[in-house]
Amino acid sequence: MAATRYDCVVIGAGPAGTAAGTLLAQAGRRVLLVDKAIFPRFHIGESLIPAANRVLRKMGVWDQVERAGFMRKEGAEFTYGTGECRVRNRFSEGLVRGLDYTYQVERAEFDRLLLARACEAGCELRQPAEAVTAEQTPSGWRIELAVNGVREHIEAAWLLDAAGRGRWLGRHLGIPTDPIPLPKRFAVYNHFTGVARPKGPEGGNIIVTRVPGGWFWSIPLDETRTSVGLVAQRGEDRTLPEQVFHQRVAQNSFMRTWMADAQPVERFRVEADYSFLHRRFAGERWLMLGDAAGFIDPVFSSGVYLALESADLAAEAILAADAQRGLRARVRARYERELRARMQTMLRLVEVYYDERSFAVFMNPTERFDLFAAVNAVVGGTTRMGFGLRWRFALFLLVCRLNRRFSMVPAVNLDADG
Ligand SMILES: Cc1cc2nc3c(=O)[nH]c(=O)nc-3n(C[C@H](O)[C@H](O)[C@H](O)COP(=O)(O)OP(=O)(O)OC[C@H]3O[C@@H](n4cnc5c(N)ncnc54)[C@H](O)[C@@H]3O)c2cc1C
Repeated sequence: MAATRYDCVVIGAGPAGTAAGTLLAQAGRRVLLVDKAIFPRFHIGESLIPAANRVLRKMGVWDQVERAGFMRKEGAEFTYGTGECRVRNRFSEGLVRGLDYTYQVERAEFDRLLLARACEAGCELRQPAEAVTAEQTPSGWRIELAVNGVREHIEAAWLLDAAGRGRWLGRHLGIPTDPIPLPKRFAVYNHFTGVARPKGPEGGNIIVTRVPGGWFWSIPLDETRTSVGLVAQRGEDRTLPEQVFHQRVAQNSFMRTWMADAQPVERFRVEADYSFLHRRFAGERWLMLGDAAGFIDPVFSSGVYLALESADLAAEAILAADAQRGLRARVRARYERELRARMQTMLRLVEVYYDERSFAVFMNPTERFDLFAAVNAVVGGTTRMGFGLRWRFALFLLVCRLNRRFSMVPAVNLDADG
């Protein structure tokens, strides 16, 4: 039997896949979305940043997100030790206007909403269906799917890998990854009731608490439940991740108080959490999106934002390449350049966070030259920078570099426990 043929097949119906599918279907393309999981399904990545709102609007799903009852997030807070020293990034006070708020989302519901929007926009869906192999043909791709143990084939002019951190297409095509100079880490997390959260507008903020070798996130999901996770360096000993979580809570006075009455709601989950970037994100009629292209440490909650941005760039690239036959290499190069630039900006911020002397600069923000407002805008996800933001962020990075050599800003003592 002849395989059904699509303009685009998108592997993975997370935020990257559903956004790309929606934008391409809105432009009249015949799109097939494939996901091996049945939705709604649990997924980590619950804290959005406001720059992500732009693509959600473009997809036509923002109103549904606003009405879904998610916890409103107006800022991000960073602390350590006793929790007294705290940097509060209120998004509305960032250098870039219009990034006032976003949401903390349960991904099961958020991803379900985005998938429903993709189907409404005209995408076809195979679910549960696992993409197994992909073979390049003169006119595009022939893809093998496993559907309830049965093999099926489909054909498409374009193949988009939005299958997440498993590096599905990267492994298949043998695309190497570039190492990222950060130690290998893992994350262990759960949802809790009884966390000692403040009320009021700032009660919706994410709180990120630095501890030796890692950090905790605390993400309010609704009035009673909070997602709390630890990202820690992999140790040599065999202590179970859940025990490491409890040990680290006990060792930090802020987290001890925060979690004093906390009760886990579910089982603890663990995720190997290390960053990678593929050396190439695109080739002849294929593109990698979101985590499939590269994964950056989640300390600044940038994953869903980058997934949505990559989808927007990918849809633009495909539409441009179809319109200007023969110029595909240029379109591809632009996709690579634009996505890599966004990832690199977030990566610069992550490097600042993990380097103790740069972290000291981050935790002692200055209003001079509007540097704090500039960093705030990047924390809100502004990676496409105008001149005013670009030079300020470059200056901030320079101050961090200088502080590594000359220790101008007092060091923070991560072991201090009040
Ligand atoms: C510990 C941790 C904390 C994080 N916290 C945050 C946060 O607070 N905020 C944030 O924005 N991001 C966070 N992230 C990152 C975030 O989870 C991801 O960046 C985001 O989900 C990427 O979206 P995506 O669409 O690229 O991939 P995914 O959301 O992973 O979606 C991929 C989809 O592909 C499907 N799939 C996989 N393989 C196949 C296959 N072979 N065939 C068919 N389907 C397939 C999967 O079922 C899945 O539905 C965190 C990540 C980690 C590890």
